[in-house]
Amino acid sequence: MNDTPFLAAGRSYLAIPGPSVIPDAVLRAMHRAAPNIYDGDLVEMTHGLVPDLKKVARTSGNVAIYISNGHGAWEAALSNVMSPGDRVLVPASGRFSFGWAEMAEGLGIEAEILDHGLQSPWDMTRIAAALEEDHAHRIKAVLAVHVDTSTSIRNDIPALRALLDDLGHPALLMADCIASMGCDRFEMDAWGVDVAVTACQKGLMVPPGLSFVFFNDKAAEARAAQPRVSRYWDWIPRANPEVYYQYFGGTAPTHHLHGLRAALDLIHDEGMENIWARHATLAQAIWTACEAWGRDGELRLNVTDPALRSHAVTSLGLTAPDGTRLRDWVEQNLGLTLGIGLGLAPADALEWHGFFRFGHMGHVNGQMIMGLLGGVDAGLKALDIPHGSGALEAASLVIAGSAG
Ligand SMILES: *Cc1c(COP(=O)(O)O)cnc(C)c1O
Repeated sequence: MNDTPFLAAGRSYLAIPGPSVIPDAVLRAMHRAAPNIYDGDLVEMTHGLVPDLKKVARTSGNVAIYISNGHGAWEAALSNVMSPGDRVLVPASGRFSFGWAEMAEGLGIEAEILDHGLQSPWDMTRIAAALEEDHAHRIKAVLAVHVDTSTSIRNDIPALRALLDDLGHPALLMADCIASMGCDRFEMDAWGVDVAVTACQKGLMVPPGLSFVFFNDKAAEARAAQPRVSRYWDWIPRANPEVYYQYFGGTAPTHHLHGLRAALDLIHDEGMENIWARHATLAQAIWTACEAWGRDGELRLNVTDPALRSHAVTSLGLTAPDGTRLRDWVEQNLGLTLGIGLGLAPADALEWHGFFRFGHMGHVNGQMIMGLLGGVDAGLKALDIPHGSGALEAASLVIAGSAG
């Protein structure tokens, strides 16, 4: 390999599962002088963000905007509806469920984790058993990670709603849609989700720094029943601000709001149904290529059943250390950055170097995904990693078959 890889110049592609590719329109919108935060355009614009955010989450409920990443939204959501000593049920199918459970424990909330391992979606029978045992209704919420970004498993939220209803269990259904909103179909009201959390740097295409907590009337009642809520996380003034400051618990995140405005314009110009269909087709092209590579070699998709796979992130394994070798090669030689494996093997284990992920969320189109797959195909060949043939041909046929 050369010191200066000669194919790496040009526009690079950050194909990791967040932060995602930032559209030029978003970058341009953020490139401006500091605005007045008391009066004028910014204040006017902010009022308009609220209905457009609710359209993305498919809710007529409320939204609170936080200056934080997704971890902040996790804590915000819990802080509004729960108190120390309360209990949550956490069906886990990857690292992020554990992360939210740990956040709850840090607030003095007891978390009952149902670990489903790293390749399986929720088992409704198991969840039902845990809820049925809870005669006293001590479980105040089920923390449901829609798409777990570590394993790339997509869970069935409507089925979880149906289960809670069948059992007559009053727990709130709280969904983490950080990796799915703006990528995979998510319909807060139709699916009976009480609280939905997301952040801006994945399907919403804005640099990390804003997060959103959507909540319905049932969740608002749970908030009203709390003896106290930390002032910064309290969603009441944010969702119904009397003065502009209250939207953000302080100074507005001025440039992020302009970026978000541009992103929401892109999103609603394209339309939610079209966005979901685009992600589904591009994911299909990726899986088809991966299956072809895997037919003669070690490459494997973490999730076997396509119906359970995220349309925004794909977790993959090779024999260690080939995952790391491949990531290094495509980054150094082609300007293509793939995601590291997360949570699929202990971080200190050698095996970790087998896992990696493709991020395909947000501002991605057919030529980018074909470029991603072409780059990986070249990497497999350059590194002599055994793989099946015909992956690019197969992906190309998926794209060709679906284009108008
Ligand atoms: C990215 C992600 C998070 C964490 O968000 P941060 O912004 O990194 O705090 C939580 N849950 C899911 C499903 C995610 O994809």
